[in-house]
Amino acid sequence: MAKQVVRRRSQRQVEDVEGNRGPADLDVLQSLVTEMLLALGEKPGRNGLLKTPERVAKALAFMTQGYHRDIDQLLNGALFPIEYDEMVIVKDIDFFSMCEHHLLPFYGRVHVGYLPNKKVVGLSKIPRIVDVFARRLQVQERLTVQIAETLKSKLNAHGVGVVVEARHLCMMMRGVEKQNTIAVSSAMLGAFRSQPQTRQEFLKLIRRGSVADSD
Ligand SMILES: [Zn+2]
Repeated sequence: MAKQVVRRRSQRQVEDVEGNRGPADLDVLQSLVTEMLLALGEKPGRNGLLKTPERVAKALAFMTQGYHRDIDQLLNGALFPIEYDEMVIVKDIDFFSMCEHHLLPFYGRVHVGYLPNKKVVGLSKIPRIVDVFARRLQVQERLTVQIAETLKSKLNAHGVGVVVEARHLCMMMRGVEKQNTIAVSSAMLGAFRSQPQTRQEFLKLIRRGSVADSD
């Protein structure tokens, strides 16, 4: 039975992690991975490890490419004026991220809801916004808040709700070694924060089974 840890968004500010970052330096990463293999007592020259530094460098660059994605560019042409003012929900968005404390993956699902204010975003853009923030070194709480605040400001939405459910390899493979723990974090902004019925509707809709399960 999965044990759930529920973490609400607190009022404290999330750490400011913005800043200028150039693209990942693959050469430096490669030589550091070679160093790491040596430090682990491995032989980087043996057959199975020959291409490992190159592979790891490329994998790390891919998994942190979100630093270099521009949200405005991503949303360019994908915001549509509309009179629709009912809640829009995109749920079960798979994501993979890396915890900044151990550089180990955490992964799971993101559920997003918002109340439009005269414009909506193309639905396929929401998973891409999730990826922009997931493909960085992260903590789950900050990932949650960044997705919510980005949608709120770019859409000028009346409200945004984001719930993230994730498994953390740093908890599963080491540390407390809890294999079935799911960490849940949420960020509720605007009407999702001020109106309990809006928040409840969102939480009810994301809890429902998959499309295939429903009648
Ligand atoms: Zn960790």
